[in-house]
Amino acid sequence: MPTRFVVIGGGLAAATAVSELRSLGFDGAIDLVAAEPRRPYERPPLSKGYLTGADDRESVFVHAEGWEAEYDVTPHLGVAARGIAEGRVELDDGTSLAFDQILIATGATPRPLPVPGGDAPGVHTFRTLDDADALRASLAEGGRRVVCVGSGWIGLELAAAARGYGNEVTVVTRSRAPLAAALGDEMGGVFRELHEDHGVTFLLERQVLAIETGSGDSATGVRTDRELVPADVVIVGIGAVPDTELAETAGAAIDGGILVDESMRTSVEGIFAAGDAANAFHPVLGARLRSEHWANAIASGKVAAASMLGRDAALDDVPYFFTDQYDLGMEYSGYAPLADDAEVVVRGDRRSGEFIAFWVQGDRVVAGMNVNIWDVQYQVQRLIRDRVAVDRTQLADSAIDLASIA
Ligand SMILES: Cc1cc2nc3c(=O)[nH]c(=O)nc-3n(C[C@H](O)[C@H](O)[C@H](O)COP(=O)(O)OP(=O)(O)OC[C@H]3O[C@@H](n4cnc5c(N)ncnc54)[C@H](O)[C@@H]3O)c2cc1C
Repeated sequence: MPTRFVVIGGGLAAATAVSELRSLGFDGAIDLVAAEPRRPYERPPLSKGYLTGADDRESVFVHAEGWEAEYDVTPHLGVAARGIAEGRVELDDGTSLAFDQILIATGATPRPLPVPGGDAPGVHTFRTLDDADALRASLAEGGRRVVCVGSGWIGLELAAAARGYGNEVTVVTRSRAPLAAALGDEMGGVFRELHEDHGVTFLLERQVLAIETGSGDSATGVRTDRELVPADVVIVGIGAVPDTELAETAGAAIDGGILVDESMRTSVEGIFAAGDAANAFHPVLGARLRSEHWANAIASGKVAAASMLGRDAALDDVPYFFTDQYDLGMEYSGYAPLADDAEVVVRGDRRSGEFIAFWVQGDRVVAGMNVNIWDVQYQVQRLIRDRVAVDRTQLADSAIDLASIA
């Protein structure tokens, strides 16, 4: 029976795995190594309540202060793991730790803007508490010209926060609609209208060529293939790259993330991966899915912990994601890769701001998004998971209880 576990990472997947190991009864040693100098924390509040000032700093942490004693874990904070070989992990403070099993939950790093001036002062990428503090300092006074490059989830949440502080906000994106890659043009249009109603300007189908710095070295504008957009603050939200370097040192197979099976096992015996860094085989989808969402960090952290203890466990949840922007709250459940050419069926009135959109392939729901309607995501997930044969008219009819569609 293994007695020494090491968990690498300072996010939700790592923190969840530690608590799950203890709740499953593991009583051996656990070391947690995290590059950031603080106990593990969650990222969703960073671009929402923490950035706007509605949530305090303490609320972002996964476990309360005193967690080391509560979970009997030895933390190594502010220390990065550099290499894994022969049952030891080398840390960048010159020490190393022996392990029987190791979990790599190293997350992802924002993709930098690959243009001249892309890393100039005044250009923000966004992933950490430090990033949130820096951006809040730039936005909080209001009255600044903020340009968001990218129109994915984080770009739009940051645009909403920037507007909330009374800044002028322009979103520059190469897409035809915000969130087009995740939701398609039609439902992306819902978010476009939402932001436009709050005074955001969209420059769509633009290629960013450079960040201008004028005569100084700070960002003064975003040059696109069509115009120069003046800016005091530039936010880059163009996706994130999984942190796979550590797993590579161990010889684990990598392809768009650390490859793991449905039990979070990498190609190397005794090495597991979870969260944003892992590209997991999804048994229902029958394909790999690197999910970069909060619910996946929790679920994969739990499955990894169980697998490390030699138990049978598989991650087969319907992927789930949420966002909050202005007064819109939304939950998305489903298999985005299957929704690409699906038909969108809407239950309720889109313009009322309260509706459910279903992505339907043949007679099956492959994804669903409830907007400002709550406690229905389990019904939406049931339709997807159980592959319920649906009638589009019934699906669109709010008078028919979702639970009765079987
Ligand atoms: C701003 C923001 C907002 C989000 N909002 C939502 C949302 O609304 N809804 C939703 O579903 N999802 C959201 N997400 C996604 C969700 O937060 C992520 O899926 C989740 O944080 C992934 O957790 P993780 O533990 O895998 O990785 P992370 O949270 O990225 O943690 C990885 C940690 O590992 C550390 N690390 C990396 N390499 C090493 C190393 N070599 N040694 C030691 N430590 C290392 C990093 O410093 C980091 O602390 C958001 C993400 C961000 C960034």
